[in-house]
Amino acid sequence: MHQMTLAEIARGLADKKFSSEELTKVLLARITQLDPQLNSFISLTEELALEQAKAADARRANGESGALLGAPIAHKDLFCTQGIRTSCGSKMLDNFKAPYDATVVAKLAAAGAVTLGKTNMDEFAMGSANESSWYGAVKNPWNLEHVPGGSSGGSAAAVAARLLPAATATDTGGSIRQPAAFTNLTGLKPTYGRVSRWGMIAYASSLDQGGPLARTAEDCAILLQGMAGFDQNDSTSIDEPVPDYSASLGDSLQGLRIGVPKEYFSAGLDPRIAELIQNSIKELQKLGAVIKEISLPNMQHAIPAYYVIAPAEASSNLSRFDGVRFGHRCEQPKDLIDLYKRSRGEGFGPEVQRRIMVGAYALSAGYYDAYYLKAQKIRRLVKNDFMAAFNEVDIILGPTTPNPAWKLGAKNSDPVAAYLEDVYTITANLAGLPGLSMPAGFVDGLPVGVQLLAPYFQEGRLLNVAHQYQLHTDWHTRTPQGF
Ligand code: GLN
Repeated sequence: MHQMTLAEIARGLADKKFSSEELTKVLLARITQLDPQLNSFISLTEELALEQAKAADARRANGESGALLGAPIAHKDLFCTQGIRTSCGSKMLDNFKAPYDATVVAKLAAAGAVTLGKTNMDEFAMGSANESSWYGAVKNPWNLEHVPGGSSGGSAAAVAARLLPAATATDTGGSIRQPAAFTNLTGLKPTYGRVSRWGMIAYASSLDQGGPLARTAEDCAILLQGMAGFDQNDSTSIDEPVPDYSASLGDSLQGLRIGVPKEYFSAGLDPRIAELIQNSIKELQKLGAVIKEISLPNMQHAIPAYYVIAPAEASSNLSRFDGVRFGHRCEQPKDLIDLYKRSRGEGFGPEVQRRIMVGAYALSAGYYDAYYLKAQKIRRLVKNDFMAAFNEVDIILGPTTPNPAWKLGAKNSDPVAAYLEDVYTITANLAGLPGLSMPAGFVDGLPVGVQLLAPYFQEGRLLNVAHQYQLHTDWHTRTPQGF
């Protein structure tokens, strides 16, 4: 039962092969049995799950239908869930029970999805390895000595290990696509503004975007359908109609123009990954796609720009955690300054503190022009590169990451080494574009992802290309041993 995709579950429920309650019980038992090896969940919500499953079964018995009605999922632990701990992977919010549901959570619940729990993540979504969580590192089900990627590493490890079919995640600089690549999943970061950020604890507000992590493009289409849409509570949410993402999955790729940026194949890319990317290109050519070499000349500046802008926004967003209104408060503060200092010093881990310091520095008078303003100018150049490229091609293709998942602890002493691994993913966030990662093969038994980028609001196109590719390849069907 645990091997089923969301699409298969929807068919099984519609055909009355099993009930949502039965499936939910099987998956909860599986999580209890196997998750101690992975640490992919921060909280399990068994009671809520069984209640939602029974309600979904009752709705189906009354004639209702829908791909998400009775479908078990989990939420990354930065989506606010009413009355349930929403920790953001931080000691700061270990005691925080959200007073309301995030829009994404409410929409999925209304569609009948069943919440099994809240998944582990890098603290405040800062990281690429899921090692900065206060609740401990998450392990990669493909090799328990390796990281699952981050910051949505809990969602990725859980879905890859068949603990559940799909989960929500967020992507500020790659946190959906990179863990998808590291765990053999399909993950989609939508266009900025496509999915509401209301109730999603902010890291870098101009870059953050929620999206689906699942095993197939077909399942990402189902989950995205339940997440996307205008929300008047989010001032950056965009009032555009949501297309039927499942309806365009079958479209032909004949004549699809795929751009391959020459900058992607530089010295930093593992040659074995480069070869797998070339294979995926050949596969898409067989399906009718036409390949064109393109250039993204400002790509080399994207990492420094991102690692100024994201910490700058984070330093501002995280100023609300002051030990007064909610979150961790130190014992017996001497005075107000002592309260701020010790509450924040005790509540935030080292990576979060590093980013707050970098961000506050870049925003400070005297350095603002040299760092923050400069980074914003680079951001515009990065966007212009994409706009020029999309005049010539429909989709951009390349590797999701330069290397496969590294060993736990391997980059702990050198944060910049981890930042450099984001080279292919962060440009889509800087430009606000949609991006998808899908399985493309293995290196030393570890999964490799291929990334597709599209113009604004063309999530449907990305899902269509990935679905066609998955009809003709079987990388995405491979299961990690022991799961
Ligand atoms: N690795 C990037 C960072 O640490 C991206 C994280 C994310 O997308 N949330 O900021």
